[in-house]
Amino acid sequence: MGIKTGAQYLASLQDSRSVWLRGKQVEDVTTEPGIANGVRTLAGFLDRQQSPEYKNSLTYQEDGETFSMSFLKPRSVEDVQRRGAAYYAWAKWSNGMFGRTPDYKNASVMAFAGAAEFLNENRDNQAPTNFARNMESYYEEARGNDYVLTHTLVNPQFNAALAKEGLSSPEVALRLIGENSRGIVVSGARLLATLGPSANEIEVFPSTLLKASEENIPYAFAFSIPIATPGLRMICRDSYEHGKSTFDAPLAARFEEMDAVVIFDRVEVPWERVFMYKDPLLCNRAFAETNAVVHMMHQVACGKLAKVEFIVGLLCAMAHASGKDKDMAVKGQIAETMWVAETVRALLFSAEAHAEQDKWGLFHAARRPLDTARNLFPRLYPKLIETVHMLGSSSLMATPCEADFNGDIAQDVERYFQLTNMHSRDRVALFRLAHDVAVSGFGNRQVLYERFFFGPQNVMASIYYDLYNKDEMIDRVNETLKGL
Ligand SMILES: Cc1cc2nc3c(=O)[nH]c(=O)nc-3n(C[C@H](O)[C@H](O)[C@H](O)COP(=O)(O)OP(=O)(O)OC[C@H]3O[C@@H](n4cnc5c(N)ncnc54)[C@H](O)[C@@H]3O)c2cc1C
Repeated sequence: MGIKTGAQYLASLQDSRSVWLRGKQVEDVTTEPGIANGVRTLAGFLDRQQSPEYKNSLTYQEDGETFSMSFLKPRSVEDVQRRGAAYYAWAKWSNGMFGRTPDYKNASVMAFAGAAEFLNENRDNQAPTNFARNMESYYEEARGNDYVLTHTLVNPQFNAALAKEGLSSPEVALRLIGENSRGIVVSGARLLATLGPSANEIEVFPSTLLKASEENIPYAFAFSIPIATPGLRMICRDSYEHGKSTFDAPLAARFEEMDAVVIFDRVEVPWERVFMYKDPLLCNRAFAETNAVVHMMHQVACGKLAKVEFIVGLLCAMAHASGKDKDMAVKGQIAETMWVAETVRALLFSAEAHAEQDKWGLFHAARRPLDTARNLFPRLYPKLIETVHMLGSSSLMATPCEADFNGDIAQDVERYFQLTNMHSRDRVALFRLAHDVAVSGFGNRQVLYERFFFGPQNVMASIYYDLYNKDEMIDRVNETLKGL
């Protein structure tokens, strides 16, 4: 066992999963219009892990088996850098537009397994299970089967006032409704599982904002189960993949990863898949103290670098096509995007160069630069897209379909859509790509995705503020005031 092929992945999705799209239950996600293209793209990515070009850099060997690099437990700075290089390679295949590649969740499973002892701090010792051992076994299972994982952390919105207090709404939130000798039973809903319909398993972890009170005990748990578990249903948003050609929708036709709300209808979770139970405080500490959040941030920063580099390339190509690349103001606009790319690169470099060992014995990239990147990017990505709008303007609309090049008006299209540096077909292809980045439903979902990647921006900024080492800086101000 170990890395799997695309064909093995496709076969693994043909199970009894309950996925709902456009009012109907999906029979087979590997053939369903609106989902299947993204599934096939991911299958192709998994195949690349096997190819001679990538195998050495994207996988590692242990006991004669080959595993995905994102499962490697990093024991040195070099291991952290190897992991970073693999994340970046995966992200470049879609230029960051297929955001939820499996390496993201693999990073978290690896970190939780590396820090498994933490889970045995669980206060409820009555549970007939060993939480740390469960996580270690799950890590072996996930890497051995090269699972594609999704996750869900957030309860649906029902009562904003309660949510702000860190409390859950029993009407909708996923909660514990029972337990028996086999496991725990949960009901309710969670959002939002990106890649959910095409994952093998779903990790259900708590968000980090549970108030540590008795009321929250039924909402405090962490587990992982197959998507095809009885009682689990996924309700997909509408698809942004509309059956268009890759010329007409260069991104949406390939990288629709789908998001789904997850319903749990008396779902039984076996004890051996439970990692935390009835301990809100432990749940709140889990991502930070195991450093899972840092390993996830590392994967994300690598993906964002690939994405912003792509936007820089797109803007330069658009400016060159029209000859606007000679204009000082346009160069200045694009330079701002280049600064974002170089800022993310520098933060990533700093994080990897300052990788450190944690109390669990694993190395991780330094948190502060990654935390800076994860706070900046959700704010800056919408501005990058605004630059695509400003530079593209009506060219983003002067985008006839592939069929127009073959129809009765082909001559018009060839003549009136050319640019000084570009033939008509190439120009339309370029601006259809820009349209898919910045105007289409696919592109707008990308903006929303980036805005909310790690949670509400003000919440993340407040965490950043709390963690920042500011005392010495404040002391310097106080020292200065003393001398007045
Ligand atoms: C495209 C997309 C994909 C996603 N994929 C996943 C996924 O795979 N797995 C997953 O678990 N989640 C996923 N999410 C959900 C994401 O984690 C949440 O959107 C995010 O945590 C914010 O929660 P929310 O949507 O309930 O919004 P809210 O929490 O309601 O936030 C909305 C706004 O309310 C305000 N606000 C919220 N909380 C506070 C507070 N405590 N104090 C002050 N103001 C506050 C902020 O202004 C915030 O912008 C995804 C979201 C999107 C958009």
